[in-house]
Amino acid sequence: MTDPAPGAVPLPYRRVVLKISGEGFCNPRERGIVMDCVLHIARQTVQAARHGVQIAIVLGGGNILRGAQFTSGQTCVHEATAHYMGMIATVMNGLALQDAMESLGADTRLMTAIRMDGVAEPYIRRRARRHLEKERIVILVAGTGSPFVTTDTAAAQRALELDADVLLKATRVDGVFSDDPERNPHAVLYPELTYDDVHRQNLRVMDQEAIAKCREYALPILVFNFRKEGNIQRAVGGQRVGTLIRPDLA
Ligand code: UDP
Repeated sequence: MTDPAPGAVPLPYRRVVLKISGEGFCNPRERGIVMDCVLHIARQTVQAARHGVQIAIVLGGGNILRGAQFTSGQTCVHEATAHYMGMIATVMNGLALQDAMESLGADTRLMTAIRMDGVAEPYIRRRARRHLEKERIVILVAGTGSPFVTTDTAAAQRALELDADVLLKATRVDGVFSDDPERNPHAVLYPELTYDDVHRQNLRVMDQEAIAKCREYALPILVFNFRKEGNIQRAVGGQRVGTLIRPDLA
């Protein structure tokens, strides 16, 4: 990474993993890929990367297909098959995001956990780190490559293996609330929580598996709303948006 200019404010994060759900790729309550939505995310991320933070993005696929939902109520598709379909959905999102970012002049690499030669590079941890060191935005798709988990788990896994300083979870709500803010207008937004708070109050932040891994390795998570203009830049730049989940005190 290039050294900051003399007198520049040091960046709080050197490397981040940004998890973007598939719902960021389409309009609210719609499905599929809408390039205006993809460009909205691409613009903010490319701007954020220009400040020198290394960014790896883990993409969801829920705008196209989620394995568990796809098989519920029908038996002719094995659930594992549906999960592979979900993983492939994230590759489609990745291809769209890569082109959107490159149209803005960014240097990117698309890496997939399921080999798809001719479409994307295979995910190899050391190679991903090297791309990040060369200031390329790395887009990670196909989740973990294994069925029965979600891309939240993949994001936690990648954040740990790439030594990210924080896991930034971009969602459609402003952060972590005392209740579901889409159903309860009186739900309160928490600006900061510990993992212990999340556990004791049974708050929904990410998959249990993902949050357990982050807690075990004391990796902070910032949950924030990607639809608000400028929020991705704020989150990557270390500004306080959304809810910060910080490690428990020793
Ligand atoms: N998936 C999987 N293994 C992984 C990651 C994802 O099987 O490591 C499948 C799973 O079926 C999931 C789908 O891919 O529902 C799409 O990912 P996800 O639901 O996490 O997308 P998001 O909700 O973030 O858009």
